[in-house]
Amino acid sequence: LFAGETEFLKGVVAMNGLPGADRMEVCFAGRSNVGKSSLINALTGTKGIARASNTPGRTQEINFFTQGPDLYLVDLPGYGYANAPLAVVEKWQKLLKQYLSGRQNLRRAFVLIDSRHGVKKVDEDIMKLLDSAAVTFQCVMTKADKVKDKDRAKVLEQVRGALARHPAAYPEIVLTSSEKGDGIPTLRSIIAGL
Ligand code: GDP
Repeated sequence: LFAGETEFLKGVVAMNGLPGADRMEVCFAGRSNVGKSSLINALTGTKGIARASNTPGRTQEINFFTQGPDLYLVDLPGYGYANAPLAVVEKWQKLLKQYLSGRQNLRRAFVLIDSRHGVKKVDEDIMKLLDSAAVTFQCVMTKADKVKDKDRAKVLEQVRGALARHPAAYPEIVLTSSEKGDGIPTLRSIIAGL
């Protein structure tokens, strides 16, 4: 599944811009600076691919990448951009809600959580949205190389506690480091297994 090329397909700003639901897709969500671009780059082995999502103007779009012919990788930027004007935030949230609840080929959402920080309020918000859209989501801990074992255990406990409150949560947590490559093969095989 990850042998093929990854290519940026399009940034979507309205439901009628979504590409055809002709293949499986998974999406990635996370606060800005959580390490989402780095993770997508590590996962696909395509340096710089997710940079498109971080360019100004793309931050309120749902960004689609093709991963070979059989998979869409979807980058959901925009959460954590609380300093955007309210009208923009509301428009974005409406699109996000519509996308999550209406996308039949969306098999799983990966919610990225910084290994140092654990689950924050905005993460809870997206988890609630995923619950109400009945989209199974799985937590991916990022930057695992930045924390000591004993601190990691504490954060993991907090994350497990949060997941227990969300019916759409898949219990297995994936620990990753895009820097060191830890957990990347695991994440690939989880996606392939879907
Ligand atoms: P995004 O805003 O969520 O797309 O975050 P980026 O992927 O741009 O990463 C934010 C910062 O965290 C950058 O300075 C990255 O180099 C750093 N970073 C991302 N992943 C890792 C990781 O696994 N380990 C370490 N040590 N740093 C990371």
